[in-house]
Amino acid sequence: MVSRVIPVDNFDLVIFGGTGDLARRKILPGLFRRFRSGQLPAEARVIGAARSEMDDAGYRQMIREAIAEFGSEEKEDADGIDAFLERLHYVAIDAMGEGGWKQLRDLMRDGVVRAFYFSVAPSLFGALAERLHEHRIADGESRIVVEKPFGRDLASAKALNATLAEHFDESQIYRIDHYLGKETVQNLMATRFGNVLFEPLWNSHYIDHIQITVAETVGVTGRGSYYDKSGAMRDMVQNHLMQLLCLIAMEPPSTYDADTVRDEKLKVIRALQPVEPHQVVRGQYEASQDGPSYREDAENPRSFTESFLALKCHIANWRWAKVPFYIRTGKRMKARSSEIAVVFKDLGHSIFEGDTARHRNILSIQLQPNEGMDLQVTIKEPGPGGMRLVDVPLDMTFADALGPDQEAPDAYERLIMDVIRGNQTLFMRGDEVEAAWAWTDPIIEGWEARNDVPKLYEAGTAGPEDAMMLMHRDGRRWREIKG
Ligand code: NAD
Repeated sequence: MVSRVIPVDNFDLVIFGGTGDLARRKILPGLFRRFRSGQLPAEARVIGAARSEMDDAGYRQMIREAIAEFGSEEKEDADGIDAFLERLHYVAIDAMGEGGWKQLRDLMRDGVVRAFYFSVAPSLFGALAERLHEHRIADGESRIVVEKPFGRDLASAKALNATLAEHFDESQIYRIDHYLGKETVQNLMATRFGNVLFEPLWNSHYIDHIQITVAETVGVTGRGSYYDKSGAMRDMVQNHLMQLLCLIAMEPPSTYDADTVRDEKLKVIRALQPVEPHQVVRGQYEASQDGPSYREDAENPRSFTESFLALKCHIANWRWAKVPFYIRTGKRMKARSSEIAVVFKDLGHSIFEGDTARHRNILSIQLQPNEGMDLQVTIKEPGPGGMRLVDVPLDMTFADALGPDQEAPDAYERLIMDVIRGNQTLFMRGDEVEAAWAWTDPIIEGWEARNDVPKLYEAGTAGPEDAMMLMHRDGRRWREIKG
């Protein structure tokens, strides 16, 4: 098969926080995979920048070890690793200090794309943006990539946007949400807007409800004190689940370009109705044989922070009138699974006598652990025995068609390549982030005002019983969480 990898333009990518967990676990192994695929130009360079004193050789050794620890089959490619490491450099810089900036400026080349990945705590974003300008390292063409969390409420997100805007135009700012880099998320748009089949049915006339689940088996061990300040709403719903909801619910953009797509997503967020307290269930996992309780993990015996959240919401527009969106996410659940399910309405009338089962078409989009899509359709059970109906999944995953040499890039790889290409479609715009906080803030403030106590749930389950009731009350049920 002819390679479909199109090399990006030559670049200098500076990773602030280049020695951190995210850089070692995701960003650099991902860049190595893109290097191996032939997508990086021969002269492309990656410059790690962090506080530790280190030279290029020390940094290359650190990344060699990171690839050995976090890479998959590419870690066997010794020659490839050596060639990739040649592309790496390191500068010791303290975001709050003055040392190292001149060295960085001297290292940067003219005539190549300049990108700066802020893989550091958000409290350093402002200082980095300011110093990049002060030292004339960034210009009007440079790009910056910022990690989550983007604020912890509307006020802090606005402040962060304002700080970045002092030095960078919105067209230069890439706010990353790695869910948007997943192959299946883009496939969702291809399915909706590249087929005549689905769009006519994509509305309240044919869709009964939508479920979005992001379930994790891990708890918050090791990062409990950090997590305890955010909780599932801030950590998952305001960003990842909200983005998935937008892609499912948005109107067809007139073109597939960054601002047109993001305009449509923004309209969805703005049309979200306020959520009433009885439409939300918060939970906290209990201790089990496999691990401590949430409160032990968080080292906070009186914590009221949620490790699980389920809620029902509505989008106030013509397309989605009266169609509930149920979303849930949690830690220490029974399986690691992320899925969007579009559940179509029951048949109005069945011509098949004796068939009393409820047959429903369900489009299921899986994001984790494996990416894929299937459409549940009703067919005749094969063989003799009359007209017996059975529901079967129609597999709509085309990964096999890509062939063994065409492994899809992971989310971080794809998004970093988009930064170099200058394509912002899969990144959140500042007004989207603010609108998402404007919707979540009153919900969180309501919990705080009421001293809302999360319901306990057994680890390894689908969350608290009340979350089941949230759907049962409406005569519906959650889909099983399967790994
Ligand atoms: P980390 O603590 O492992 O690494 C932080 C990095 O920042 C280190 O390289 C450190 O040297 C550098 N640093 C700290 N203070 C600095 C300063 N004053 N000047 C220059 N460099 C400094 O953190 P991480 O897990 O890699 O996360 C980085 C960012 O990415 C955070 O904003 C985090 O919220 C976000 N993030 C991380 C993950 C993840 O899986 N680790 C996932 C999503 C988002």
